[in-house]
Amino acid sequence: MRQRLSSEPDRYRGRRRVPTPPRSRYAAVVTTAFVGAGIVALGANALPDAKSVSPSVLDELKQASITSQDAAARADSADRATRDDRAGKTAAEQDTWLLPLHGYDFQSPYGMRWGKLHTGIDLVAPEGTPYRAIHDGQVTKAGWFGGYGYAVIVQHADGSEAIYGHSSAVSVKEGQQVKAGDQLGLVGNTGHSYGSHLHLEIHVNGQPLDPVPWLKDRGVDIQLEVEAIYSEVAAS
Ligand SMILES: [Zn+2]
Repeated sequence: MRQRLSSEPDRYRGRRRVPTPPRSRYAAVVTTAFVGAGIVALGANALPDAKSVSPSVLDELKQASITSQDAAARADSADRATRDDRAGKTAAEQDTWLLPLHGYDFQSPYGMRWGKLHTGIDLVAPEGTPYRAIHDGQVTKAGWFGGYGYAVIVQHADGSEAIYGHSSAVSVKEGQQVKAGDQLGLVGNTGHSYGSHLHLEIHVNGQPLDPVPWLKDRGVDIQLEVEAIYSEVAAS
């Protein structure tokens, strides 16, 4: 069984979820109005027959239908307004955390490396692979950033920051608001880098921490993604 890799499917499922098309419901309302008005108008005339219905009754029926349609139109626009609210930031969407890319090779974990603290994780992927925002936030850096090469920094609403380093190109501008899943740049080998990869670093209170458990707490499993890829290779 293929396990869920991240909260991504939830997000897309959430997006696709639209209210039941209201048309059928309104069709029923209109029909009911017709039938209801017809029965009342026809009264004792047990067998409804267009020829026996007086013009004023037909007018009433028409009026009933128009009124129902107006109500339907009003309800329809109310529905649309609800949908627009949903297209905006819902609580669920603000909670979305994603992998920055797929199909990477998780190489260098957070921790001591070559006598120095490696302050992030390295996700090896071919140069030019698009990488995406792991969470909603504001771009506070987009451009050359010393050893990080071309980098993007996104500050999240909770105050944490994600640094995406060694890009071949950045796709966003400083000050820009991004949502989880928005493309930020392309994987590269700029700055102090030993090969094409994305260096992902998370800062909380200005200090780097190990992104793996931190992201796992948010439903994003960096290592599960790797295992899933290996098992796919093994299965093929
Ligand atoms: Zn790194």
